[in-house]
Formats: sequence, C-alpha cells, structure tokens
Amino acid sequence: MFKQLVYIEKSIKNHANTIQVLDKIQPSQIVWIDHYKEVLNQTNSNWLFNKKFQKIVLAKRENEFYYKGSHHTSNLGHQHFYYNTLALNCLYHCEYCYLQGMYNTPHLVLFLNNNDYINATRQLIQQVGDIYMALSYDTDLPALEKYYPYCKEWIEFANNEKNITIEIRTKSHQIDFIHQTQPSDNVLLSFTLSPEVIQNRYEPYTPSLEQRLKAVQNAIKKKFKVMICFDPLIYTTDYKNIYTDFFNHVFQSISAESVVASIGVFRMNHQFFKRIRKNGNRSDIYYKEYSIENKTIMYPKNIRNEMIMFVQSELQKRNIKDIFIYE
Ligand code: SF4
Repeated sequence: MFKQLVYIEKSIKNHANTIQVLDKIQPSQIVWIDHYKEVLNQTNSNWLFNKKFQKIVLAKRENEFYYKGSHHTSNLGHQHFYYNTLALNCLYHCEYCYLQGMYNTPHLVLFLNNNDYINATRQLIQQVGDIYMALSYDTDLPALEKYYPYCKEWIEFANNEKNITIEIRTKSHQIDFIHQTQPSDNVLLSFTLSPEVIQNRYEPYTPSLEQRLKAVQNAIKKKFKVMICFDPLIYTTDYKNIYTDFFNHVFQSISAESVVASIGVFRMNHQFFKRIRKNGNRSDIYYKEYSIENKTIMYPKNIRNEMIMFVQSELQKRNIKDIFIYE
C-alpha cells in the first residue's frame, strides 16, 4: 500500500471516523476531493501501474447501502440474499479477481459512515424479514480492519439482530476482531483457501496457507461458525494431485465436523474478463479456453463438471457434511 497520499471527501473532513482512520494511516499528504469517484473512475490511467501505487480514499456513501445478491455466489440457501460494499477494491491482488475489470483504478475506497449501512439494513429487515448479508464484497474486509473496525461493528450488530445472517469472507489471517466480539449462530466467517502452488502463482500479497489455517483454527477455537471456501478452483492438468494433497493437508489441521464448505470453479463476468485482458494482465488465466454462458466466462462444461464432482467427492471422503456448490 502506497500510503503517502490519502484522498478525502471534503464533507467528512471533521468526522470522528475520518480522524480515527487518519491517525492509523499517518499520511504525509492529504488531497481534498468532492467525491470518491473523481479518483476511482479516473480514465486513461494504467490499472496495473496504479496497483503498485495504490492510494486510499476516505469517503461517505450517500445511498445504495446494499444490493440484491447474485446466484454466482454464496447464499447458503437463504431466500433473501443481499450484499453490501463497505469498501471498494482490495489490498490483495489475486490474478483471477474480477475487481480488476470492475473499476477504472485499483485505489482503495473506505466508506466511513458504517452506521448508515447498519441503519439501512435494519429497515430492510423490517421490510422483507430474515436476510442473508455478505459483507466482504468487492473487497477483503478483515484485511481492512486495521483501518476501520467494520467486522467488529457488524458482528456486534448481528449479535443483537437475529433476523440477519452475516458472512465475512476473507483470505486474511488478521482476525483480531474475534477476540473483541462474541460468536453467534448468525455470524459466519468464511476463509478462502487455495493449494500453495495456486496461491504462490495467482494470489500475490495474500497470507500463506499456514497463516490462513492458523486463523481458521483460532476462529473455531473461539466458537465462531466457519466455512472453508474452495473457490475459485483453478484448472491445471494435474489438478487432481494438487487438490488431493491440499485437502489432506488442510484436514490434518482442521477437524471436518467444525466447518462447512463451499466450492466453485473459476468464473467471471465476460465484460470484466475482456477489460482485464485489455488492461494488460498477462496471467495465463486470461489465455485459456473458456466457454461463455449467460455473459459469464467459464471452463467448458465437461471440465467444470469433472472438477466439481472430484472436489465434492474428496470433501465427502473427509466427512464434510454440508457442501455448497456455486457454478
Ligand atoms: S482477496 Fe478477494 S477481493 Fe481481494 S483481490 Fe483476492 S479475490 Fe479479489
């Protein structure tokens, strides 16, 4: 993270949360802006170059405090599935991540009016009843907890509001918020794990597999509900050996009955995929053979089916009872 310069919306100049976050970042320069989109939506900028000099933008969200969820992602069978975007973009740089095609720049936007999100969610619950809300969307929220305590505040909200289930998905191992909050049945911590060879190749800046496994163990020890996400599964010619060794390793340190699992093969919105290639990402991910279904890039159906069946059966062999599949 390139922290020398922080952009801040003028309207939140004297906001207590702004002062608190600035205290943590200690920037050497501040640029005052009218709206975060001035930075996020810059045109004619080089996405990959900007990633090396990623900036932080502190902003206030005026509306759109939640969205209806997509069938491509986890909803654990809940009828009313929503997600929110408390931050935009990510500290990590997974090569398969759609965020590279979603915004013009990779700059990290933190919305500091978390209370407005929580109040809007309260109203939503009053309108539709029981909801499932994915929080760590378009970002990795626990990785940002060092700037603002999003996870802590949402877990506290969920502890007192039983008509919501929140999911916090992460590749981070920095989950100190589990020691500052209480677990409850409606809080799900989801850890994305990948084989080391996949992580080293495609997930720059992310914590190692061992660090993530340690975080999973700590969450289980603190009695949080835990999901392990094997998503996206990445196809290679020897994926069966890679994933078999990986599952052996994972379930040596995590007991199968303490977790549920979700699996999904690599897939991406076609427009984002094209844009990422155009932006100059030369990862082999963007030069493989895919099919396009419902405006989504996917492995050909036979490969998808084979991978899902293989992984599902490997997890069943290891006695994972609940396995959610997303295609
Ligand atoms: S951790 Fe998630 S949000 Fe962040 S770059 Fe990787 S895939 Fe994208």
